[in-house]
Amino acid sequence: QKAGPADAKVTPMMAQYIEIKTANPDSLLFYRMGDFYELFFEDAEVAARALGITLTKRGKHQGEDIPMCGVPVHAADDYLQKLIALGHRVSVCEQTEDPAEAKKRGSKSVVRRDVVRLVTPGTITEDRLLDAGANNFLAALTRLRGSSLGGDAVYGLAWVDMSTGSFQVCETDDQRLASDIVQISPRELILADNLLQEKDFRQTLEQAGAALSPVPRAYFDSATATDKLAQYFGVKTLDGFGVFSRAELSAASGILSYIEKTQLGERPPLDPPARQSGNGRMLIDPATRSNLELSRTLSGEKQGSLLATIDKTVTGSGSRLLASRLAAPLLDPEAISKRQDAVEFFFENEIMREGLRQTLKGAPDMARSLSRIALHRGGPRDVLAIATGLRAVRTAFEQTSKSAEYPAEIAAARTALGNAPHDLGAELDRAIKEDPPLLKRDGGFIASGYDENLDELRALRDESRKVIAKLQADYGEELGLRSLKIKHNSVLGWFIEAPTAQTEKMVADPGRFIHRQTMAGAMRFTTTELADLESKIASAGERALAIEMEIFDRLADAIVESGDLIKAAAHGLGVLDVSAALAKLAQEDGYVRPAIDGSRAFHITGGRHPVVERALKTSGGDAFVANDADLGPRTETDAGSIWLITGPNMAGKSTFLRQNALIAVMAQMGAFVPAYSAHIGIVDRLFSRVGAADDLARGRSTFMVEMVETAAILNQASDRSLVILDEIGRGTATFDGLSIAWASIEHLHEINKSRALFATHYHELTVLSAKLDRLSNATVSVKEWNGDVIFLHEIVPGAADRSYGIQVAKLAGLPPSVVERSKQVLSQLEEQDRSSPAENLIDELPLFATLQPAQPKTTRCVIEPALEELDRLNPDDMTPREALEALYMLKSSR
Ligand code: ADP
Repeated sequence: QKAGPADAKVTPMMAQYIEIKTANPDSLLFYRMGDFYELFFEDAEVAARALGITLTKRGKHQGEDIPMCGVPVHAADDYLQKLIALGHRVSVCEQTEDPAEAKKRGSKSVVRRDVVRLVTPGTITEDRLLDAGANNFLAALTRLRGSSLGGDAVYGLAWVDMSTGSFQVCETDDQRLASDIVQISPRELILADNLLQEKDFRQTLEQAGAALSPVPRAYFDSATATDKLAQYFGVKTLDGFGVFSRAELSAASGILSYIEKTQLGERPPLDPPARQSGNGRMLIDPATRSNLELSRTLSGEKQGSLLATIDKTVTGSGSRLLASRLAAPLLDPEAISKRQDAVEFFFENEIMREGLRQTLKGAPDMARSLSRIALHRGGPRDVLAIATGLRAVRTAFEQTSKSAEYPAEIAAARTALGNAPHDLGAELDRAIKEDPPLLKRDGGFIASGYDENLDELRALRDESRKVIAKLQADYGEELGLRSLKIKHNSVLGWFIEAPTAQTEKMVADPGRFIHRQTMAGAMRFTTTELADLESKIASAGERALAIEMEIFDRLADAIVESGDLIKAAAHGLGVLDVSAALAKLAQEDGYVRPAIDGSRAFHITGGRHPVVERALKTSGGDAFVANDADLGPRTETDAGSIWLITGPNMAGKSTFLRQNALIAVMAQMGAFVPAYSAHIGIVDRLFSRVGAADDLARGRSTFMVEMVETAAILNQASDRSLVILDEIGRGTATFDGLSIAWASIEHLHEINKSRALFATHYHELTVLSAKLDRLSNATVSVKEWNGDVIFLHEIVPGAADRSYGIQVAKLAGLPPSVVERSKQVLSQLEEQDRSSPAENLIDELPLFATLQPAQPKTTRCVIEPALEELDRLNPDDMTPREALEALYMLKSSR
């Protein structure tokens, strides 16, 4: 929509709109007009479709109707929320002067307007737009080439939760990038526009589910990054924050540039960047993370995920902390043990814990209120939240004071609680009314008794109201008019109103009753007396409001000044909440503290699947059958072992595989685990290949997805990893599948040497245990009864004798005739199969490791001369015969 002053038909307002829109091209423009935000042109079409609101038109532009839609200001948050959830960005453009001012400049001039805020998915701070229990991360990604000669790329990642101030950075590489992004799971990811143009790269990022926002490359300039950070945090050098790599600095600087742009210069109170070391966290690739349903189920819901099952926190900050711990399990036994100590503390001190949880339940989200206040977006309720929060901090501190000794995590949290600005809290408590209005605009949020001047003015205002009531009675009596009323509106102010038919006496005395307005059936007047009173009330009200604003600003400044202490205390409450919640979970569901060390042990007794167990409990079904697992080495120097699990469908193989992976995750995040006992040597990476769905969007069949995941495991798993593989090879013909599964097990055993659980329906594989010394067979026990199969869900040593497929099919309700027929076909097949048993394979095939890896051909030196030769040929100049000769020659140069 190009338009300029030359376009005579453009109204001044439309000219202003176009100018502002041109300056904000990559977002929807909410253009304030009175009580509405209006959208025009394409924005209107996009928003009307996204919000399901009516598209109308307003005037014409270059001969065409201008599409328009609008949302009322009072409901704007709801609409913003929808748009943001869909990944849109919105510029909010407000009137920045009183319309009366504009009129003074001339009848044609438009009210001044300006974009006051750019709302994007990663930079929101409003409670209604945020999920209380989840972080809202904005992330920035940069890529630096390893060296000028090419080499591996190095990535910098920075992520910020503007609503709480947390700010972290890390450096990563091609292999870990996708895992790291999924671990952070940002709402919005910014990166240089040129990076986004690489298609493969874009796809990888889109899979992580973040809204991608391209920004100019200059945002990430690593040369000026240090200065930018130092300036933001008001320090001379970053030394106090730690040492950062070039990639990390570049990402951090990119994120700050973006925040400054979207907040139009306002600076949210961020923590100094903390470096998250990639080597300190268990690596969980995106497929494993989603297959194990750590924070969401495969269908995308929270309910039914591990996180939802174990989350017993009662505060937003606790819930966020728990989610981030689950997303990044630790590798350092000492750090894990510190977290466990805190859980154990509350496990043992039950009375203290329950009292504390009661307090925490009522504690508001101080971190988010603080952010809003610092961004000048806070209201009276945010101030109240800080006041109430600080009260909870104090109570929590006292409630936890009855112990002789504290574990380090609890002690640190308590120090933060003790250091909170309690005097400020007391002051806020006195200052703010109990149930203040949402907006500070109209005042009425400062408690009476806090400020003398304010109290006086309010008394005056209220007094005057009484005087008005008396005046109404007096006039009514004097004129004999019971229906006379003194009313107020925003246009006339205070006035006297009476039915027209009874105003004779007033009309007859115009010196005293000054006529203001004639309505249908009523007339309105004023008097000098009333006007005097009115100005008294108005000025008292105005002065009172001014005082309230002054107090608000003073309190807000004091809060921001103590921001660091408040944030630390809020974090302390979060730590207490998480520890207490995990302790409560452990107590209710019978979890234990796992022993964690640097060994390669993996010994679980009585292990359970936390989610399935809870589901069975809630539905009142059978009890969950606990199972042991021992994948540790048999001797000190040995590598871990592999369990090959066979058994019919529905017996509980997948459940067993997953429960052990989940126990490893829970153990290393510092939680107690669903087992009688557990001893786990740190798992550095967790791999899973369990039932995936077709990834049709990327053009991959189930089998292809399965093979890509298997390839990743066989290429990357180490002797410190834990691998769970469910039914590899299921997606192809029997012999193909069996062969792939066979070779994969050999590779895992001989090359990767990981601790692994391998579930399969190929019974033929069980013969491998004869050759592979660290491989054991296990099966899920079943009972046969009257031709039906009963699942006992118990994992026992040995191999399944048969697969009971037909019995399971019968349970599923296959028609009896089909069941019968299947039995016949099966016995025929078994007859034939006996002539070629797979057992022979084990003797005929040498073991994987004894095979020499095929020498890679030195193709490069053979091909290069041939390519040069090829370059010299020009097919257009050749006869068919010459072409054929050239081809022979090329072929012979191999
Ligand atoms: P498989 O992988 O062998 O086909 P699943 O692991 O999917 O079997 O288990 C099938 C069902 O059996 C699960 O949905 C669960 O309800 C139940 N189940 C599995 N393991 C147990 C167990 N240990 N105790 C009780 N019920 C179980």
